[in-house]
Amino acid sequence: MSDRLKDFKIEFQNTGVDCQRFCYAARAREFQVEAIQRLEALQTKASALKTEMVTVGDESSANQLLSLEEMLQALIYELQMWVAFKDADPHAAWTALIGAQSAARTAMQAHDIADHLDAYIERLYALEKLLFPPQMFMSVGIIIKQSTCSICGHEYGECDHLKGKAYMGQMCTRLIEESELWESSIVSDPANKHCRILTFSDGDSTRDLMTWRPIPSVQDEEE
Ligand SMILES: [Zn+2]
Repeated sequence: MSDRLKDFKIEFQNTGVDCQRFCYAARAREFQVEAIQRLEALQTKASALKTEMVTVGDESSANQLLSLEEMLQALIYELQMWVAFKDADPHAAWTALIGAQSAARTAMQAHDIADHLDAYIERLYALEKLLFPPQMFMSVGIIIKQSTCSICGHEYGECDHLKGKAYMGQMCTRLIEESELWESSIVSDPANKHCRILTFSDGDSTRDLMTWRPIPSVQDEEE
């Protein structure tokens, strides 16, 4: 392992501990915003170092840096969630929390230096249950007609790359180029928690499912 990666990991560790201090509802907004800025600056540094590792063909270091970038992203999202609650925007808070869960999972997939993240991910799931009302989700079933590999651009399945695995600091994903909608359904445990139902109607009134506030109808607004 290069000395620069070793030094970066120490900086990551120290900044991470400093910034996690603000991952609570009670902490003041200005410190949370400041922590986000510190983490973003460190993320820029990680990505520059990763580019260097890719240039010299050091795949293990590149994947470790990808994992560190994603861990930083998870913390950034978590802090953004707390800030969004303070700004009375629970929809943005939800989007940030789901982003944090997904970044933490990607960090674990990228390299085993993130093997210790299980407890953090459990915490993010607990926050989902404690801070938000139960959500309803839409799940879409599609038939994939054409998809490509994000690493090499070949048709997915024709190359040796596997989605959810890291290659030289880059996560492999299956890019869907062409698909057909098969079915859609309402589910409580979806693959994609961004895909949720925002409002519901009971007879005359429509409400925001997150805040419970009535949503004025077009007719009300005209009056
Ligand atoms: Zn490929």
